[in-house]
Amino acid sequence: MNLILLGPPGAGKGTQAAKIVEKYNIPHISTGDIFRENIKNGTELGKKAKEYMNAGQLVPDELVIEIATDRLTKDDCTDGFVLDGFPRTVFQAEELDKFLSAMGSKIDHVLYLDVNREELMIRITGRRICTNCGASFHLVNIPPKQDGICDVCGAELIQRKDDSEETASNRIEVYNRETKPLVEYYEKAGNLSHIDGTLGLENEFNAIVGILGE
Ligand code: AMP
Repeated sequence: MNLILLGPPGAGKGTQAAKIVEKYNIPHISTGDIFRENIKNGTELGKKAKEYMNAGQLVPDELVIEIATDRLTKDDCTDGFVLDGFPRTVFQAEELDKFLSAMGSKIDHVLYLDVNREELMIRITGRRICTNCGASFHLVNIPPKQDGICDVCGAELIQRKDDSEETASNRIEVYNRETKPLVEYYEKAGNLSHIDGTLGLENEFNAIVGILGE
């Protein structure tokens, strides 16, 4: 089961990916998480990606394609995977198709989570992330029990740099320009399913299970 979660920043791709992982037992591959991990560890890749990420710009295709395809060759991907945040450009999608087809494989489903801009801004700017375990909260929608503290592990919650108002707005613009054309790309390929990303977590997940099957 080779899946892509497609949608604007703040649509809830990461949240649905976690639920998919739990139910279908396939790895969650987030290029954003891979970059953040590299920034945290001070690697060369992290240094290269940081500037782009903090500005809400896309990291150059060559870098992203290399880390994504490298990750896809790992053993845990043989029964499938859920890609979150990759591909983000038509070029990345074409390269992914070529890579998979060379391995005798393909993308089975593209789940497109759609949310309007106003709602996205509220979601992104209110998001708070645990500095230790990565759990995600929201000041209004999923408030932690104690202000600024992670419910899961007790560490401090912070706002991601790229979740600030200005950067969030930039990311949505970049999404509309660079990534939204993928909707048409996968519609043409015939494997895209639309999911209303404002239905609430459980309803959205039920819709996904309806598409993927039990
Ligand atoms: P995300 O966590 O998916 O929102 O990604 C955070 C940031 O990482 C993005 O705003 C980009 O700067 C960078 N990034 C992640 N995935 C990609 C990708 N497929 N192509 C280009 N940049 C990416």
